[in-house]
Amino acid sequence: MKVLIIGSGIAGITFAEKLRKLSADTTITILTKEDEGFYSRPLLSLGFSDQDIEQSIIIKSFNELLNDNICVISGVEVTRINRNKQLVNIEGVDEIDSLQYDVLILAMGSAAFIPPPFQPYRDNFFLFNSLADLKQLRKFRQSILEKNSQPHWAIIGGGLIGCEIASDLALAGDQVRVYHAMDRLMERQLVEQDSTTLLKVLEASEIDVLLNQTVKGFEKKDHKMWVMSDINQTEYDGIIVSCGFKPRIELAIHAGLDTNRGIKTKQTLQTNDENIYALGDVAELPNGKLYAFIKPIRHQALWLANYLCKQESEPWLPPTFNPSAKVNNFQAAHPYLF
Ligand SMILES: Cc1cc2nc3c(=O)[nH]c(=O)nc-3n(C[C@H](O)[C@H](O)[C@H](O)COP(=O)(O)OP(=O)(O)OC[C@H]3O[C@@H](n4cnc5c(N)ncnc54)[C@H](O)[C@@H]3O)c2cc1C
Repeated sequence: MKVLIIGSGIAGITFAEKLRKLSADTTITILTKEDEGFYSRPLLSLGFSDQDIEQSIIIKSFNELLNDNICVISGVEVTRINRNKQLVNIEGVDEIDSLQYDVLILAMGSAAFIPPPFQPYRDNFFLFNSLADLKQLRKFRQSILEKNSQPHWAIIGGGLIGCEIASDLALAGDQVRVYHAMDRLMERQLVEQDSTTLLKVLEASEIDVLLNQTVKGFEKKDHKMWVMSDINQTEYDGIIVSCGFKPRIELAIHAGLDTNRGIKTKQTLQTNDENIYALGDVAELPNGKLYAFIKPIRHQALWLANYLCKQESEPWLPPTFNPSAKVNNFQAAHPYLF
């Protein structure tokens, strides 16, 4: 049997490794845009205060996976899924332009969400979603430090990742302001009392938090970036937009798979094509939920390998899990909402 996996994040890698343990003779191939190995995305949020992050964040090189007879074709993009011929088209390597599958696993993860009003200003802000983004930001930050000046940042979005980046930049010694559209931080995950505690913790780290802010756009003037809000215009060295995530569903849409916010699956993670399954940030379960956290994704991936090898017959059920923000000195008193 030929199993093709698109994506080398926690979903794709965990599934591939488990499948290999259960089945020695399955051909397992991972196709991925990444070329630096399998890395921990949660650790990205500590990428400014930890000087060695660029090395320590890599969990496994793609060569190590070859030892388990898992082939990784890295630095490539899957551009199309042909369901009739059961093959995918690939760009980025000279030797191959398509690959056949018996079972296809969609584990393409998610991109940073850019609110439509910000899209015309794309050149004026950074995103924070991948190791490539972190490297770009660290390089930019270093260039400011080399001018003997401590960077001044605007973070747009006071959700989980926005608060984590703000906390880490402040820990690294930078000046940070957070613009949040709502009247309290992390309103989707925290009860009101914990949002208030989080605000106090960020303020104690000298982070300036502005709530109820409508950011209208961004401008670049004299090597500085400007945030235009409904109240004023302020200059910064850099702006990071952190307004949530967007599952990568474009391939699935083109292939005629059922999609909504994510790729719709049954409780068995199977899409509306019997040979195609979805895992991780892209998978939307029948209850309409996406389980975009490490613990449930690992659980899904292990479960699916077992299921395909007939070691499991009950449908997938999410494990109990309690995400938490990696904000210095902050601990929520109540369980996170999910
Ligand atoms: C900054 C940050 C901090 C986080 N902190 C936490 C935390 O503390 N705890 C927690 O539980 N979760 C956290 N998360 C969320 C968690 O990291 C994600 O839910 C999880 O990593 C998603 O895994 P995935 O395998 O589904 O997707 P991803 O890790 O996004 O992997 C998808 C892969 O698919 C590749 N790909 C996509 N499209 C194609 C294509 N067409 N062709 C080839 N390759 C393709 C991508 O390049 C990528 O390598 C955090 C996320 C971020 C961004």
